[in-house]
Amino acid sequence: MGRERLGKLPIHWTMHQVREFFHIKRCNKCQGFRHLAKDCPSNRPSCGSCAGHHHARKCRSPQVVCINCAMYNQFHGTRFPAYHHTSDSGCSSTWER
Ligand SMILES: [Zn+2]
Ligand SMILES: [Zn+2]
Ligand SMILES: [Zn+2]
Repeated sequence: MGRERLGKLPIHWTMHQVREFFHIKRCNKCQGFRHLAKDCPSNRPSCGSCAGHHHARKCRSPQVVCINCAMYNQFHGTRFPAYHHTSDSGCSSTWER
């Protein structure tokens, strides 16, 4: 019984850690991590909704593609699901950073 209680603690801890992880800085211009739009090194915006080169606010595309997952798949030959918004909590690329 003592063991079971101990076993549950790390799970809660992990969930807490994961939630903290989503608060990592994400640029809303290029959708890159660890910097904000004002410090963005990219001169072209990338849409957080469809991965096109425009600001997410001006997005007219009905398609939802996560640029971070799409790029990751392209570079690493992986097949993470990329049909979600960049701020989606299920975004695979968030786990990597
Ligand atoms: Zn940026
Ligand atoms: Zn767009
Ligand atoms: Zn993603």
